[in-house]
Amino acid sequence: MTERELVITIDGPAGAGKSIVARRLAERLGYRLIDTGAMYRALAWSVSEAGLPPEDTPALRRHLAAVGVTLDGERVIVNGDDVTAKIRSREISDLTSRLTALGMVRDKVTPIQRALASRGGVVLEGRDTGTVVCPAADVKFYLDASIDERARRRQLELEGTGVAVAFDDLRAEIRARDVQDTTRALAPLRTPAGALEIDTSDLSVEQVLGRMLEAVERRRCCTRS
Ligand code: C5P
Repeated sequence: MTERELVITIDGPAGAGKSIVARRLAERLGYRLIDTGAMYRALAWSVSEAGLPPEDTPALRRHLAAVGVTLDGERVIVNGDDVTAKIRSREISDLTSRLTALGMVRDKVTPIQRALASRGGVVLEGRDTGTVVCPAADVKFYLDASIDERARRRQLELEGTGVAVAFDDLRAEIRARDVQDTTRALAPLRTPAGALEIDTSDLSVEQVLGRMLEAVERRRCCTRS
């Protein structure tokens, strides 16, 4: 009998190291990576491009009804255009965090993510993938790291793109995003029930990946027949 392909979720705050391990895990398993944050970022980018203030509810509702967001491999597509390179700025990060607190925004994106995950063989990465998008996922992870380590990682990432930002400013930004993401009424960032928690502060990517692969293997052993 062929093994059913798994649904794997990885949640956690900014800078916990989700993106890199999600990509590597998906590669190792031959699974599809679903970067849920990128989809929200792409939507935020489209709102910003349209010049819409996020508080203009009727205009935002019309915009959401008309806009198409999807993934093509690791590329994020908005209305047929590849916007992958445009969604990582600090302005878009901030707008995304504000927009994702709105029910109409989550109601637009969550069903798209569920449809992408429906046939299994996927690694979903984000803030609510194991709590809201796929609560019945086969393997759930929650990654975290100390605030200093997360700010340091973000600083290195920004430096890599030629942007220099003071460590204390980044630390404050990350803290503000944490507050926004964990205290919002809808789909707040939480450890999903049954998730394996990993503190990545002092672990290498390979070490984190090793723990994840062990958990996936354990799950496969239990479901193999
Ligand atoms: O993971 P990333 O930093 O790209 O996510 C950008 C923002 O999108 C987060 O700060 C969070 O507000 C939001 N997000 C979300 N739910 C997800 C993924 C991301 O609300 N599943």
